[in-house]
Amino acid sequence: MRDIPEINYEHDIQRLVSLYKRGIFDIMAELNRLDLTDMQRAQILATLKNVAEILRSINEESSKWVEEVMPKAVTDGIAGVIYSLGVVETAEEVYTLIKLNKANKALTEAVIADTQADLLRVTTNINDRTKYVIRQATQLSFRANYAKGINGRRAISVDILREMRETLGKAVDTGIIDARNIRWKPLDYVDMLVRTKTMTAHIDATINEAVAREAYYGRISKHGATDACRNYEGKIVKLVPDAPGDYPYIGDLRGGRDIFHPNCKHTITPTRLPNGI
Ligand SMILES: [Zn+2]
Repeated sequence: MRDIPEINYEHDIQRLVSLYKRGIFDIMAELNRLDLTDMQRAQILATLKNVAEILRSINEESSKWVEEVMPKAVTDGIAGVIYSLGVVETAEEVYTLIKLNKANKALTEAVIADTQADLLRVTTNINDRTKYVIRQATQLSFRANYAKGINGRRAISVDILREMRETLGKAVDTGIIDARNIRWKPLDYVDMLVRTKTMTAHIDATINEAVAREAYYGRISKHGATDACRNYEGKIVKLVPDAPGDYPYIGDLRGGRDIFHPNCKHTITPTRLPNGI
C-alpha cells in the first residue's frame, strides 16, 4: 500500500487571502478619504461606487482562482488513487492517466459552484456592511451639524469625528457565520473556507475514483495531529457503507466533530484490502 503523494495548496491559499487582504485595505483607504465634516451625497455615492468596484474585481479574480484550484484538488485526489493502487510506477506518470469519471465531473462542477457562492457571501457582506457604516456616520454628521447651531460652534467636534472614524473602521469587521454556526472574520473565513474546500474536494475525488476502481477502504493519513484527529491517524475506514468488515464508514466520520473538521489536513489513501497491505 503506497501512501498518496503529499498535497499542499498553501501557496494558492495565500494568493487568494492576499487578494482579499488588499481589497479590504483599499476599501479602508476609500473610507479614510471621506471628508467627514461635509458628508455630501455626491461624495458618499462616489465612495460606494469605488468600494463596489473593488469588490467586483475581487469577485472576478477569486472566481478565476476557484476555477483553477478546485479542479487541481480533484485531479490530485484521482492521482493519489492511481498511484496508491499501484497502477503506475512513479507519481509523475499518474497525471498522464487521469480522466474524470462521471462522479468526479459532477464533483468538480459542484465544488466550483459552492466555493464561488460561499466566497461571494464574503464580498456581499462587506458591501452591505460598508453601506451600513456610511449611513451611520452620515447620521452622526447630520446630528453634529444640527447641534452646531445650539452653541454657535462652527466645526464638528473632535469627539464626533472620532466616533465617525470608529464607525467607519467597522466596515470590514463583518462576521460570517459558517454551517456550524461559528462566526469568522472575513480573512479567516476565506482562509478556512478554501483550505477546507480543497481538502474536501480531494477526499471526495479520492472516494469517487477509489470506488470506481473497486477499492472500498481507505487509510487516514498521519502527520502527528494534536487535536481530536490524532485518534484516527492511520485508521482504516470504509469508503462505502456496505463494504464488509468492522470499520467506521468515512461518511459518518465526516459528519462529526472529531475528524475532517474545518481546516483539517487529513487525507485518505485507498486500498482494496482493509487489513492494510
Ligand atoms: Zn485532521
